[in-house]
Amino acid sequence: MISIEQAQQIILQSIDALPTQEVPVLKSLGRVVAENIHAPWDIPSTDNSAMDGFAFSSPLPDQDHWRVTDFVPAGQFRTSLVAPGEAVRIMTGAPIPPGCETVVPFEEIDLTNQGVRPLKTPKKGANIRRRGEDIQANDLVITAGSVIRPQEIGMLVSLGCTMVKVFRTVRVAILATGDELLEEGSVPSAGKIINSNSYSLAAQVLEAGGEPIVLGIAKDTDLATKEKIREGLEGADILITTGGVSVGDRDYVKEALHELGGELFFWKVNLKPGKPVAYAMLNGKPVFALPGNPVATMVGFELFVRPTMLRMMGHRNLFRPVVKATLIEPAHNKGDRPHLVRVRVKLEQGGYSASVYKNQSSANLASLTQGNGLLRLQPTQSIDAGSEVQITLLDRGFEMGGAETLFKSSSYEADEVVFAQQCCGS
Ligand code: AMP
Ligand code: MG
Repeated sequence: MISIEQAQQIILQSIDALPTQEVPVLKSLGRVVAENIHAPWDIPSTDNSAMDGFAFSSPLPDQDHWRVTDFVPAGQFRTSLVAPGEAVRIMTGAPIPPGCETVVPFEEIDLTNQGVRPLKTPKKGANIRRRGEDIQANDLVITAGSVIRPQEIGMLVSLGCTMVKVFRTVRVAILATGDELLEEGSVPSAGKIINSNSYSLAAQVLEAGGEPIVLGIAKDTDLATKEKIREGLEGADILITTGGVSVGDRDYVKEALHELGGELFFWKVNLKPGKPVAYAMLNGKPVFALPGNPVATMVGFELFVRPTMLRMMGHRNLFRPVVKATLIEPAHNKGDRPHLVRVRVKLEQGGYSASVYKNQSSANLASLTQGNGLLRLQPTQSIDAGSEVQITLLDRGFEMGGAETLFKSSSYEADEVVFAQQCCGS
């Protein structure tokens, strides 16, 4: 049986990035830019004031007061020279008028009857943001392959971009299989369960930046499985199936892929949960046949589908972050396969801690709703409580959990907390 890493390698070698497309700048958030972005102009475009205050004529002579002869608000440009001995009232962002070389903020100004005077002698050039100090014309500002964050959006707009070339979003069709499955919103009856996998997978697709297409449920027949796979692949770049890929009497997915002309790259990976996973290429599109147990499905997505999606969307960083944490309880793998144990990671004062979720059944989705990380235990491996372990962080909820933990254990008084929140929000 192949290892997780071998499976990942086989998959990633079999796929390419999707074509690129032009999108409005705001739509590029979270996408990978497919072109180098150079600056068409300097930012800032002129020397301008970093403070609300007064701009002083240069050279700054040592005199009692400066006559204030003008006012330059942001957005206006004074072209005439400011004569020696004069100052102008100037607002943050306003261009420095010719003849001025220093800005002194209001807080450091003494108002006299005849004008203004700096409380202490300012340095030449103080509080002036120089033309091109942030970006210079022709600078390479954003390199192809970067992921667009809010700050890149701001930068693109300030460089005059309205459209940007990014890799296309991957469309992922999701097919559930099983006679026991009911549509979402149903009330389970004897022997039936609700098709939850289609939705946890769709959410994983969304979270990875893709577009999910929920195809519904295929009955456990050869015909229905083939039909739905064929249909589902048409409008998608990737197909995921869930269930029906093990050795059960009514597991038809692998067979269906074969009969439809798919090339099977592997079936079964040495891991727990989620061993009976198959990977095939059908009509030039990757197909992931994930097992039906809810945790096995989600873990299979994490290990195999997510990196594929990311690579197809142009990402270079394909894997989740790994942190060092102190294990709270001992952990032991009695089995003969690497076990991806669901843990809950918390940010404590001394660093991260990880506790093992008590029920590690691959059918038990609560191990993932309670957990936020995976600890990999090798076959027969035992780890003592208090040991340092490496945890793959699964989600962004972790950050919220971490912040909450810190907040609870902090010694802030209520007033200080309110103050801190106000600061953050302003
Ligand atoms: P299978 O891989 O088809 O043998 O399914 C294994 C287990 O996963 C069975 O208990 C199924 O009922 C369950 N299962 C399969 N598909 C789904 C689904 N779409 N949503 C929730 N559970 C599922
Ligand atoms: Mg089944």
